[in-house]
Amino acid sequence: AAKTEERNTLRFYTPMMHANTSRRLLLASELRQALVREEFRLVYQPSIEMRTGRIVAVEALVRWQHPDRGEVLPSEFIPVAESLGLIRRIDEWVMQAACAQIEAWDMAGMPPVRVAVNVSARGFGHAAFVDGVSRALQRRRVPPGRLMLEITESAMLRMGDDTERTMRALHTLGLEVAIDDFGTGYSSMAYLKLPAVAYLKIDRSFVSGLPESADDVAIIEAMLAMSRSLGLKTIAEGIETEAQHEFLLRAGCAEGQGYLYSYPLAASAIERLMSPRSYHVPTKLRLVPPKR
Ligand code: C2E
Ligand code: MG
Ligand code: MG
Ligand code: MG
Repeated sequence: AAKTEERNTLRFYTPMMHANTSRRLLLASELRQALVREEFRLVYQPSIEMRTGRIVAVEALVRWQHPDRGEVLPSEFIPVAESLGLIRRIDEWVMQAACAQIEAWDMAGMPPVRVAVNVSARGFGHAAFVDGVSRALQRRRVPPGRLMLEITESAMLRMGDDTERTMRALHTLGLEVAIDDFGTGYSSMAYLKLPAVAYLKIDRSFVSGLPESADDVAIIEAMLAMSRSLGLKTIAEGIETEAQHEFLLRAGCAEGQGYLYSYPLAASAIERLMSPRSYHVPTKLRLVPPKR
């Protein structure tokens, strides 16, 4: 049986897969070092109020600045980190770095926009999660209302007592949660009623078909109607064209994010964007700095 299995394995093993596997193995051994050497950094993508173009939030997105490969994107190293059990340490680093950045921005007198941080399923499900968040906030004296947590729909799949307890604890702390990649998770909608959940982020796979795809139009309209009646705010992600912007604005989507407005930017570029005088982004739409 072992032989047959081996033969079957080999038959499906292509050179391309080999290259991917060895790259993953290499990344794995380097990922541990990356944590020690602090090779991670955060970039920030603005989220705008669709009606006004005003920046109301930024989402922190992690990047791995690899010494010789250059920038590695999360889609490549997050799955590796998950399989190695390193994801919680990365999440923790991200949380600390985001809180440190909020403190620095506050001290520099930047307008107090919301900062969103992505949390992995493993991190969110861990018993020490809420304590960790609470400590990171306290250490930097960050008001809990400034931080928003983004949790993907699939991360909430195992919705049981734990999920509910965690959400309640976050709510008590004063934190708001967004359901990320909404519409892709095949999961129950019961979590939309949980206390801390305040935002729905419409996955960009639905936005990309706008306004031509009748299916995407129907799905998005249904999502907007549902979140309106549940009292949730909606953020559309992955907006790349003016036609998508126009459609979502008219359909009543409150916030948007995407390359049309801004790519994810370094903290220093965010600072320039936020200053009332000198800001410039290479997009067609004029972004308005936040309210002071
Ligand atoms: P996400 O949270 O849904 O983030 C949105 C992703 O879409 C980001 O990719 C962003 O750069 C990209 N994006 C934004 N606007 C557009 C657009 O107009 N068009 C297109 N095609 N893409 C756009 P990124 O930074 O590569 O992150 C990918 C995913 O990795 C994130 O999806 C999130 O799930 C995860 N991730 C990122 N940072 C972290 C982190 O610090 N911790 C954890 N646990 N996961 C993270
Ligand atoms: Mg996100
Ligand atoms: Mg998202
Ligand atoms: Mg997404």
